Amino acid sequence: MLKINQLHKSYPIGDSSLHVLKGIDLKVEAGEMVAIMGSSGSGKSTLLNIIGMLDEADSGDYILDGLPIKDLTEKKAAVYRNKFLGFIFQSFNLINYKNALENVALPLYYQGMKRKERQEKALFHLEKVGLADWAQHLPKELSGGQNQRVAIARALAANPKLLLADEPTGALDTTTSYEIMAFIQQLNDEGKTILMVTHEEDIANMCKRIVRLRDGVIMEDKKVEQVRAEQYV
Ligand code: ADP
Ligand code: MG
Repeated sequence: MLKINQLHKSYPIGDSSLHVLKGIDLKVEAGEMVAIMGSSGSGKSTLLNIIGMLDEADSGDYILDGLPIKDLTEKKAAVYRNKFLGFIFQSFNLINYKNALENVALPLYYQGMKRKERQEKALFHLEKVGLADWAQHLPKELSGGQNQRVAIARALAANPKLLLADEPTGALDTTTSYEIMAFIQQLNDEGKTILMVTHEEDIANMCKRIVRLRDGVIMEDKKVEQVRAEQYV
C-alpha cells in the first residue's frame, strides 16, 4: 500500500531549522491497521500529513499504491488525495453551515459526481455509520461522537484505499472513543487499510501494529494482539 524510505523533514524557525523527521522507513501493506504513537511534538502529524500529501518531505522516497509521490503539482496531488485517501481529524473538520448529508457529499462533488448520485451515496454512508436519521442536522446539533461518525462517512464516501486518522478519538470521552474505534475496526475487518495517530495506549492496542516515534526516528515497530472495541460499548 505504501512504502517510505529515509524520509526527512525540517521546519524553518527563524535562521535555523527544526529537524522533525530524521530518516523514517515505513512499509504498510493493504489491510493493515497501524497506530503511530509518540509524545507530543515527536512528529506524528508531520508524518501523517506527508503520507496524506498535505505536506511534502525534504528528502526520501514515498511510494503510495505503486505511485512515487514526488514533485506533484498541487492539482495532481489533489486528484491523488481524492482518489486514494480519506482523512479523519481530532476536531472532525466538518463544515459548520452544511448539514451531515452535505458534509459527506462534499468529496463526491470534488470528484465531479452528479448531485443526485452524490446525495444517494452520501446517504448510504451515513446509514453505514448509523446516522441516516440525522442527515439534515448541522454539526452543532450533533454530539462529538456523532460528528466523528459523519466525518468517517465523509472520509469513506469516495471509497479511498487508505484511511488516515490523526487522533480521531482525541476529543471524545472514553465510551465514545471506543464506539468510534469499533467502527474503525469494522472498516478494517472489511479490508480498509488504516493508519492512525494516537497517544493513547488503549486506542493503539485496538490496532494491529504499533509504530513508535521518538525524536524523529522510529524506535519501535511491532505487531500487537488486537483488542476489540465492541466489548466496551
Ligand atoms: P505531533 O503530532 O507528534 O505532536 P507534529 O508533527 O505536529 O508532532 O510536530 C512536530 C514538531 O514540529 C513540533 O515541535 C512542532 O512544533 C513542529 N512543527 C509542526 N508543524 C510545524 C510548522 N508548520 N512549522 C514549524 N514547526 C512545526
Ligand atoms: Mg499531532
